[in-house]
Amino acid sequence: MSKLTQKQLDSHWMPYTGNREFKRDPRIIASADGCFYKDDQGRDIFDGLSGLWTCGLGHNVARINEAVAQQVKTLDYSPAFQFGHEKSFQLAEKITEFMPPELNRIFFTGSGSESVDTALKVARAYWRKKGKGTKTKFIGRAKGYHGAGVSGFSVGGIPANRTLYGQGLDSYHLPHTQAPGTEFTQGMSDVGAERADALLDLITMHDASNIAAVIVEPMSGSAGVIIPPQGYLQRLRDICDQHDILLVFDEVITAFGRMGANTGSEAFGVTPDIITMAKQVTNGVIPMGAVAFKEEIYDTFMEQGGPDYMLELPHGYTYSAHPVACAAGLASLAEIQEQGLVEQVRNNSRYWEEVVHSLRSSSELITDIRNYGYAAGITIAAPDGQPARRPYEVAMEMWAKGFYVRYGGDTIQLAPPFIAEREELDRMINALGESFGKL
Ligand code: PMP
Repeated sequence: MSKLTQKQLDSHWMPYTGNREFKRDPRIIASADGCFYKDDQGRDIFDGLSGLWTCGLGHNVARINEAVAQQVKTLDYSPAFQFGHEKSFQLAEKITEFMPPELNRIFFTGSGSESVDTALKVARAYWRKKGKGTKTKFIGRAKGYHGAGVSGFSVGGIPANRTLYGQGLDSYHLPHTQAPGTEFTQGMSDVGAERADALLDLITMHDASNIAAVIVEPMSGSAGVIIPPQGYLQRLRDICDQHDILLVFDEVITAFGRMGANTGSEAFGVTPDIITMAKQVTNGVIPMGAVAFKEEIYDTFMEQGGPDYMLELPHGYTYSAHPVACAAGLASLAEIQEQGLVEQVRNNSRYWEEVVHSLRSSSELITDIRNYGYAAGITIAAPDGQPARRPYEVAMEMWAKGFYVRYGGDTIQLAPPFIAEREELDRMINALGESFGKL
C-alpha cells in the first residue's frame, strides 16, 4: 500500500482515471529508466505504452536530461510573445526535417489539445483571410481522439469523451474505418477506402462553402489503434482538394517515428495541409506541442498582416516555445535521428506484427488485432455487454505481473519504446497471452 495519506490521495482529481478504484489501491510509479518504471514497492514495470505514446526513447535519457538541466540554468523561461530565444527557431527547423517538405512553418503549443485548437482556429482564420468567412464547420471522424479541449471533444468521436459535455463546436463526423470482415488484418487493410466518400455526403448536406477543415488521425490511437485502409487517406485528400477544404492530420501520436516513418503522412503517403504533434517531440520529458502548416497558409497571414504594430495571428500560449521544452525537443529529435530509430522501428515492425498477431490463439474472446509500426490494438469481446471490463482486468493483471499496458474501451493498446529489445517485447506478449488465456 502506498505511503500517501488519504488526504493527499483525495486532493488530486486524477485525469482519465477511475479515481475511486485507483484510490482504494493506488498504483504509484516512483522512477523510470530505459524501458522500465519502478513502482513504490520497488517492482520493475515494463513500459508497454511508452508512457502515453510519449517516450519512444525510453526514460532517463542522458542527452535530454543534460539539455534540460543546462537550459534551466541558462534561460528558464522567456515570453514567446514579441521576444524570441534561439532554441525555438532551431527546434522549428529540426521539426521540419521530420515533416513533409511543404509543411515548413511551425507554431508551438503546450500540448496536443492546444495543437488541435491551434489548427482549427487557424483553419477558420485562414478562410476569413481568403474572403470565405462562412467556412467554419469541422468534420471529424467516429472514434477519433483529438484531445480534451472543447474543440478536441467536438471533432472527436469517442462517445464516452463527449456525452457529458453538451454542445461543442459545429462539427460533423465521418464513419470510422473498421470495415466488417477486416479483423486480424496485418497492417493496412485493402478494404474500406470508400468510407472516405462519406465526406461527399457531408459536403452535400452542409455545402463546402461552410466547411473549414477535415481532421483525422492518420492512425487512430486512443480509440484502439485503427489503421487506415489502403487508399482511404488519399481519397480524403482528393475530396478536400476538389472542394477547397483544409485537411488536418492529427499526428500527436504518429509523428516522430511511431509508424516506422517520420510521420503518419510519410508512412501512408498522403500530405495534409496541417499537422498537429506533441508527445514524442520532447520524449514526454517537458510538455510541448506544435503545429506544422503549409507555407501557403503562413504566407496568407503574412501577406495580410497590416502595419508592423498589428499581429498577423492573435493566438498563442504562455508556454508556447518554452525554452526548456525546446531544449528537450532538440535533444529528443537529435537522438531519434542519430540513433536511426525511425528506421529501427520500420525494420522491427514486421517482428512486432508477428508476435502481436500470435496472440490471436490465446483466447476466443479476442475479436480483432491491428498493428502498424510499433503500435497495436487488441479488441476483446464483451458477451456480458460490458466492453471495458475484460480489458480493464487484463491491464490490471498485467500491472500485477510487471507490465504497463493501457486499456481503452474494448481494446488493449500497445506501443512499446522504440528502443525495446525483442526479448522484452516477447516477455510482454507472453504475459499478455497468459492473461488472455484466463478470460
Ligand atoms: N490528439 C491525439 C491524436 C492524441 O492522441 C492526443 C493525446 N492522446 C491528443 C490530441 C491530446 O494531446 P494532449 O493530451 O497532450 O493534450
